[in-house]
Amino acid sequence: MQEFQQTLAAPVELEGVGVFSGRKVRVVLEPAKAGEGVVFVLEEVSGAPRLPLRPEYVLGTEGATVLSDGYHTLYLIEHLLSALHGLRVDNVVIRVFGPEIPLFDGSAQVFVREILTRGLRLQPLPKRYLEILKPFEVQNGVGSLRFRPAPDFRLRVRIAFDHPLIGEQSFSLTINPLTYQREVAFARTFGFKEDLLRRREKGLLRGGDFSNGLILDETKVLNGPLRRPDEFVRHKALDLVGDLFTVGLPFRGEVEAEFSGHRLHIEALKSLLSAPGIARLSDGLPPVALFFLAPKKRPLRPGY
Ligand SMILES: [Zn+2]
Repeated sequence: MQEFQQTLAAPVELEGVGVFSGRKVRVVLEPAKAGEGVVFVLEEVSGAPRLPLRPEYVLGTEGATVLSDGYHTLYLIEHLLSALHGLRVDNVVIRVFGPEIPLFDGSAQVFVREILTRGLRLQPLPKRYLEILKPFEVQNGVGSLRFRPAPDFRLRVRIAFDHPLIGEQSFSLTINPLTYQREVAFARTFGFKEDLLRRREKGLLRGGDFSNGLILDETKVLNGPLRRPDEFVRHKALDLVGDLFTVGLPFRGEVEAEFSGHRLHIEALKSLLSAPGIARLSDGLPPVALFFLAPKKRPLRPGY
């Protein structure tokens, strides 16, 4: 069945505190033309540069997925991208008035709720995908990502933390807008109290508090209750849905992630795109077309 592209039916405006900067940040999502894709506009930078969502502008760090043109940096794009990918939004202009996307409650729920309140609009262009053609695997220390062909978007995620409340958890799901909303969007990010205190002392976290995600001490959640007993692994799934969308196209295939994080997700995608014959755009373009999506090396300069 032919599927068509979608954009927002009306603009969505959001405001929240940035956990890295401690500042209030406004984000405006606007409908975009068919074929335009996802475009970020850094409104506080002179000239308001437009950064289309493409792998060459994306970096995976341990704590966040980051958009950067080598001069300006936008942190924490992954939960917003997860909501857009989960709800099947193809085209949107994202105007950001600050250096990061607000974390809200650490899940994708605020984005999903606000987008669905305004509604989505179908557009007269066939939807395009990043389609997996052949199995492909990327390893990084203990973590791994395995891609396989599939007719839809399937994921399996496994995590392991040496913590009595987490231990080993696994989760698998075929992602569509309904399953995404019901099973994934609510899952909050989590952090360990000791790490958070250390990062706060170094000045890396200026705005985070108990409302921005789950915080654990050695034995329990300090700001529970959990929304599901396996909320932790579901959040990993949420992150993976967001990181896979950094290609700028929805994903079609199966992905299996073990003990992975943003850095591995982004590295794996970049290797996948530069390996010929592994993936293609599913509107009939030959695999060679992926080279224009493949990352170029750019130096990372300090953020703004
Ligand atoms: Zn996350």
